[in-house]
Amino acid sequence: MTGPLNGLMQDDFPLTLAHARRRMRDCHPSAQVATLTDEGAVTRASFAEVSERVDRLARALTTRLGIEPGDRVGTFAWNNQRHFELYMAVPCVGAVLHTLNIRLFAEQITYIVNHAEDQVIFVDDSLVPLLEPLVPSFEGVRHFILMGDGPAGQLPNVLRYEELLAEADSESGVGSESFDYPELDERQAASLCYTSGTTGNPKGVLYSHRSICLHATASLMADNLGLSRRERVLVVVPMFHVNAWGLPYAAALCGADLVMPDRFMQAEPLARAIESERPTVMGCVPTIFAGMLRYADTHEVDLSSLSNAVCGGSAVPRALMKDFQERHGVCIHQGWGMTETSPVVTFSDPPEDRGHDERYWDERALQGKPLPWTELRLVDDDGHEVPWDGQSTGEIQVRGPWVARRYYNDPSGDEKFEDGWLRTGDIAAIDEQAFVRITDRSKDVIKSGGEWISSVELENELMAHPDVIEAAVIAKPDERWSERPLCCVVLREGAAAGADELVEHLRPRVAKWWLPDEFAFIAEVPKTSVGKFDKKVLRAQLQEGTLEGRARIPPGGGR
Ligand code: AMP
Repeated sequence: MTGPLNGLMQDDFPLTLAHARRRMRDCHPSAQVATLTDEGAVTRASFAEVSERVDRLARALTTRLGIEPGDRVGTFAWNNQRHFELYMAVPCVGAVLHTLNIRLFAEQITYIVNHAEDQVIFVDDSLVPLLEPLVPSFEGVRHFILMGDGPAGQLPNVLRYEELLAEADSESGVGSESFDYPELDERQAASLCYTSGTTGNPKGVLYSHRSICLHATASLMADNLGLSRRERVLVVVPMFHVNAWGLPYAAALCGADLVMPDRFMQAEPLARAIESERPTVMGCVPTIFAGMLRYADTHEVDLSSLSNAVCGGSAVPRALMKDFQERHGVCIHQGWGMTETSPVVTFSDPPEDRGHDERYWDERALQGKPLPWTELRLVDDDGHEVPWDGQSTGEIQVRGPWVARRYYNDPSGDEKFEDGWLRTGDIAAIDEQAFVRITDRSKDVIKSGGEWISSVELENELMAHPDVIEAAVIAKPDERWSERPLCCVVLREGAAAGADELVEHLRPRVAKWWLPDEFAFIAEVPKTSVGKFDKKVLRAQLQEGTLEGRARIPPGGGR
């Protein structure tokens, strides 16, 4: 009897960021990191220069700052070259990069710094005023390392980033090539990012070298982002949110240029950066793209360099994709995922162009197919699997080598993980070709008369009305139907569409019983720390009776 025969390949070659770091220096020395700075100027460094600084940073971390393998190193920073250097150096010395989300509430930042037991925090000088008041509540932070020449304020135990790097050079005496990096195991933790947690405390997702490397490699596939050394990536998604979707690591592997906006994330500087830096790829949430469109309404903007605009983080409105394509010739690709999934799980490649009919746009609005190595299943409320027929809906569960198997030191989140699958809390239908259509977050779904109404679809249709710039639909308790949709709408300046007109707009587009009975005309939809619509704020306002501008549709008008 012969048993299974083992292969004779180098299966133990570790998938670690050490390889990505070496590729930057050896294979892509002339690739570039460009960072926007104050006066509309740009600083530039080649990957060869960045690699050399990464080596010096590695030396500073281990010798000057006493960082040991497994220690957590915090960053409180925008998207810029120094943050990228930390992305490479910290995991490569065996430590864990903890990217602090600067937009969390003060108590949440305190919680995650202490929960992660950060030893040191690297902070951008422009963010010192935000961090400073929280410092007394941090329990174990030994040093703050200031990035930039700005004032240190009242930060205690401050060291300056550039001085650390300069010292690290002179200490070695032989330049930085000699830094002796430790051997890494691919299962070792490389970075830590907390969910922006809508309920309870934020939860830590602890990425391994292996998960980051595999996810970054997947970004180079043609059916995914298709990153390559020919691309120039404008990284707008913050580096404190899910490793900036893994874009910096993918660029390190393949030699794509990086364009970093630092704190200039508003529509105007981004538009100017696109014109002058000519990125080919840009990644961000729909609200940023929507802001750029509004800016382009009143300003001359050339976005033609973008061949691949990647959007995700929440459902991408069809009207947004249409406008970008028709007015600017930019095709937006949609991806779906979450902090717990590194994040990309599905990616939608635009279907073949059939003259952009309605079916084409229906397909464009889908979240795409699961990437190789990720697997999905749909599960209903009773725990039964739901068929992939394009209609039946259930919660998406996902598994794969870049999906979390539990949270860092937090058993309170254990119910999200079930026999090797992650329960995402997203409700979707999947068709026979494996195209995913997210219909809602489970907590945002509106249950009316025993049936579900998709808030996402209503929002999508409302935002297709020319007068509507933002729409967030929430459930309003209703005696007869249990819940009914309440549409919170932001109108374009000077626009006058009323509730009746919006219902007429929806009438041919959605089921009759979905038609809302109530609208709230608001100045802006509140946003979460990562720029998504924050419906829990709207729900709270509804409960408190402070939701502005409400208009009811006469009985029977809506339904
Ligand atoms: P986060 O962990 O903050 O990145 O949030 C993840 C959540 O964002 C997912 O569970 C989805 O609810 C939502 N999301 C991300 N991408 C999409 C998308 N393309 N369409 C709809 N929802 C999305």
